[in-house]
Amino acid sequence: MPQYVYRFSEGSKDQKDLLGGKGANLAEMTKLGLPVPPGFTITTEACRAYMRDGHVPPELRVEVTMAVREIEDTIGRRLGDFHEPLLVSVRSGAKFSMPGMMETVLNIGLNDASVKGLAEFSGDERFAWDSYRRLIQMFGKTVLGIDGEHFAHTLDEKKRTAGAATDIDLTAEDLKELVAEFKAIVQEDAGREFPQHPREQLDMAIEAVFDSWNTERARLYRRRERIPNDLGTAVNVVTMVFGNLGDTSGTGVCFTRDPSTGHSGIYGDYLANAQGEDVVAGIRNTLPLAELETLDKKSYDDLRQAMRRLETHYRDLCDIEFTIERGKLWMLQTRVGKRTAAAAFRIATQLVDEHLITMDEAISRCTGAQLSQLLFPQFDGEAERHLLTKAMPASPGAAVGEIVLDNAQAIERTSAGAKVILVRRETNPDDLAGMIVADGILTARGGKTSHAAVVARGMGKCAVVGAEELDVDRVSGEVRINGTVLHAGDTIAIDGSSGEVFLGEVPVVDSPVMIYISSGLEAGLAAAEDEATKELVHAIDRVLGHADDVRRMRVRANADTAEDARRARDRGAEGIGLCRTEHQFLGDRRVYIEHVVLAEDDEARLAALEELLPLQRTDFVELLDAMDSLPTTIRLIDPPLHEFLPDLTELAVKVALAKERGQVEERDVKLLAAVQRMHEQNPMLGLRGVRLGLKIPGLFALQIRAIAEATVELRKAGKNPLPEIMVPLVGSMRELQIVREEAVRILAEVGAAAGVTLDLPIGCMIELPRAALTAHRIAEEADFFSFGTNDLTQTTWGFSRDDVEGAFFADYLENGVLTISPFETLDADGVGALVVSGVTGGRSTKPHLHMGVCGEHGGDPESIHFFHDAGLDYVSCSPFRVPIARLEAGRAAA
Ligand code: PEP
Ligand code: MG
Repeated sequence: MPQYVYRFSEGSKDQKDLLGGKGANLAEMTKLGLPVPPGFTITTEACRAYMRDGHVPPELRVEVTMAVREIEDTIGRRLGDFHEPLLVSVRSGAKFSMPGMMETVLNIGLNDASVKGLAEFSGDERFAWDSYRRLIQMFGKTVLGIDGEHFAHTLDEKKRTAGAATDIDLTAEDLKELVAEFKAIVQEDAGREFPQHPREQLDMAIEAVFDSWNTERARLYRRRERIPNDLGTAVNVVTMVFGNLGDTSGTGVCFTRDPSTGHSGIYGDYLANAQGEDVVAGIRNTLPLAELETLDKKSYDDLRQAMRRLETHYRDLCDIEFTIERGKLWMLQTRVGKRTAAAAFRIATQLVDEHLITMDEAISRCTGAQLSQLLFPQFDGEAERHLLTKAMPASPGAAVGEIVLDNAQAIERTSAGAKVILVRRETNPDDLAGMIVADGILTARGGKTSHAAVVARGMGKCAVVGAEELDVDRVSGEVRINGTVLHAGDTIAIDGSSGEVFLGEVPVVDSPVMIYISSGLEAGLAAAEDEATKELVHAIDRVLGHADDVRRMRVRANADTAEDARRARDRGAEGIGLCRTEHQFLGDRRVYIEHVVLAEDDEARLAALEELLPLQRTDFVELLDAMDSLPTTIRLIDPPLHEFLPDLTELAVKVALAKERGQVEERDVKLLAAVQRMHEQNPMLGLRGVRLGLKIPGLFALQIRAIAEATVELRKAGKNPLPEIMVPLVGSMRELQIVREEAVRILAEVGAAAGVTLDLPIGCMIELPRAALTAHRIAEEADFFSFGTNDLTQTTWGFSRDDVEGAFFADYLENGVLTISPFETLDADGVGALVVSGVTGGRSTKPHLHMGVCGEHGGDPESIHFFHDAGLDYVSCSPFRVPIARLEAGRAAA
């Protein structure tokens, strides 16, 4: 038989699953001997039983009786007593805090008789009747579901007729009348009397708290915060203490250190003669906590001591709610306090310096998400801004610039020194040139893994996508947003962290943390304008340094050019995990691939390949030089063909129009026939990756030769290039075997000619379910594996990575099929199982097979922990995310 009720003296802070956050911490404070009003916690297990069975478990009622009697005996007062009534509050408290989402009822135990007892006991009739009317109001609204407006309206009416400016001006008589009127509202709206029996009040309030777990707004909140729906809430029943018993009473909140800087000191607010909800409601101005010292030195000293106890005990910043009842301090709540990203780093290192925590603990308290917030430039929140629309924040950062509508405009304006925002309906690989020079990207369509989003994130560039109210009219050159008509050259500002789009200039604040990451400690410190920021830069340096010391997984970057590679290296990348060579053929060079793919005979193809060889060799020399002495995984070309061939419809129209005019070119007709021949309904599952390499003789060979020759060239120059050759989209061992045989032959040939041994690792991507399931076979031919979790997610779920986000992900997130896009955070149960299968299979054949991941997930904090647990040797992510991955890999290992 489970125990459904825990006295505060029975629980501990480690029981948040069972007692909820609030209950666990009340128990902990009780154990510490701090002044917590007597009470007990009803477990989340009771809530789950209630949700399952539709009624509270009968044992719960019995246990509540025992616990209430114990309180009554301890303090010598009884629920409903005519003289000295015990009053209790009933408060929700789930494992994860859900601020404002769930219910609380105060003053349970008051009725027509005990209100008189309270008046007598407190010596304050007005206070007693005010407490009673608060109970009926809160109970009516929360437990009986009566529209709160009815009570509020009646209260206002009473103040008007009594000539009272505020609630406090109402007399005991006024409040007595108000109680009668509130009871009438209950009778009328709920069709029943306000329950007079304290135990009935208590039981109903407990059920109401259970029910509040499943309100629409609570479910919505949990979906957004990714809190599971089946946890349930605990319920805390706490003896009421009153901060509104005159000037020697009051209520407040405080922090054991400043939650924004982390500095220790006295931080908090106090409100004399008030109850907790008055502070939150902002009815009267609060006093700085320090002033409590002059008001009530004893309580102040007690509070300071309790703060010190709590901080030492939790070894972290705590926030606290307290009440003083006639000069006696009561602790109502504490928890490890929320903090800004900057404070997280500062507090963690301060606590290390105070010898309260170790560096391992410090890194466990600073997240990659917090670090990433500190890396992005931000808009100055103080500045005046004109919001045009809000869409999906796809890649964080803040960018201001002129609108440009295509590559040509983007290049023209940036070469004239302007900053630009590329505004498109959506982007495709053709827009890369414009995206590269733009400061930000704004699209009308697409989701978080649309082309614009993925490429922008890869570049660490700010992007807002899927702005439905944005209408981009290329013909007229107009951009319309919510009634505002703009043109190329007009200035807008986009916030990739919030999705907001502003009209005109908004000042951007640079991040010294970013300067530190890319240029080192001294530069970061020099960029920091004040002591707090310097302290932050130092703190991050220490935390990242420790993460680097303890992590097992290496961190590489996905980079396609020497420039990206250098940037990644500056940020601490220990290699390149993925160079997508197809990206080297976008823009002007696309025609070369077109020539190779569409060549009608061997001769034409060989000629086209010949042209490519020197270009590729130069690409690789530059890349390998930038990554000297660090492993550099170069992936053989993997283009879905539609990205490289002319668009079928456009070309067909062009040829038809030309035919009409009688000016058709033979070349276009041939091209159209070829594009028609190669057209695929589903190019992502078509002729790409290794399939293309096997289909078109000489294409992979050219790339392998270019890698080999680049390696020879650099070695001759005394460098130490470390290329690794990677084959994409392998589904069968034989595919890899064929490519490997050819690669080995070419390496031997180039090596022999140069008089060197070229023993380069040859491996493959594991990005198809079949590859993951037959990894033991594939490993026979592979020197390494790299998990391509983008394609693996696409093919495991059968979700087209280019289409689904806009199409139905919103619905799937809404109805709970997904809690987050699986393209953003690895789907551990499904895709993750295939990763584990790939690791296990691969290592069953080669126990030391080197393995990493190069899908987008390589830079996602939660996924990084999964990869650590799965035993991968490295993650590879966009250069911008390298520091985040270093930190998270350290946290995973610490
Ligand atoms: C992948 O599929 O995860 C991958 C890294 O390859 P790409 O994104 O280029 O398909
Ligand atoms: Mg892939």
